[in-house]
Amino acid sequence: MHVNRISIPPNHPRAKSLHTREALVDGYRRGLVVAEGLIAHGRGEAYDYLIGECTTKTAQRAIKAAAAMLLLSRHPVISVNGNAAALCPGAIVELAKATGAAIEINLFYRTEERERAIKAELETHGAENVLGVGSRASATIPELQSERRRVDPDGIYSADTVFVPLEDGDRTEALVKMGKKVITIDLNPLSRTAKAAHITIVDNIVRAMPALAEAAHQLNGSKSLKRIVDGFDNKKNLRESLKIIRGVI
Ligand code: ATP
Ligand code: MG
Repeated sequence: MHVNRISIPPNHPRAKSLHTREALVDGYRRGLVVAEGLIAHGRGEAYDYLIGECTTKTAQRAIKAAAAMLLLSRHPVISVNGNAAALCPGAIVELAKATGAAIEINLFYRTEERERAIKAELETHGAENVLGVGSRASATIPELQSERRRVDPDGIYSADTVFVPLEDGDRTEALVKMGKKVITIDLNPLSRTAKAAHITIVDNIVRAMPALAEAAHQLNGSKSLKRIVDGFDNKKNLRESLKIIRGVI
């Protein structure tokens, strides 16, 4: 498909947002992203506008707690979908290396072709041993009907902590019911995922993922990891994000 490309002027007030859209559309053309993923991003963008398109102090607290939780985990797994792979593949791999987390591909609209394209994209950015592709996803999450119930026995199925950026509410709730610790990045503080997760980073994935990798590097070896996690209150944090949206703080 040939599409005319316009260059985005660097001083355009929405330059960053437009570049992010381009990265997603490019991911769509390369077979990483599905059309529905473009729409899901639109819902995220609306909330980004409302929080001021920046990483708020509230999000920074959640990022620190998430980094601490990943570092404390015995078997943390990062679940990657098409949008995440198109928007921040390098930061995902960096976070995996900084925390010792495994990377597993888990798609709502699953085809083996798309799994392979996403795996290749992650490998280009340095990922090794990407889980969840093809017949590797042989275990099932109870209660789920969608294709996303299929998970890797060496990955999400046996993980103690699952990081699910841009996740659908059904699966987040099912993972919590399985007894996993769940961390997410979700711009919508009202989504089911945001409410069900133990730590919700209300921020755009393009800002939050690199910040999380950086926080993991900084906290590595710290003695205060447990204190940071125990001191974090997700409900309070979500209330604060809503106040930011309403302009109250
Ligand atoms: P839920 O299923 O949790 O109730 P939903 O059905 O509204 O949410 P989904 O498409 O299932 O939405 O999940 C995608 C979530 O990711 C949405 O809450 C959306 O706002 C959020 N999102 C989309 N793009 C981004 C992004 N770039 N950064 C952070 N969050 C995003
Ligand atoms: Mg949903």
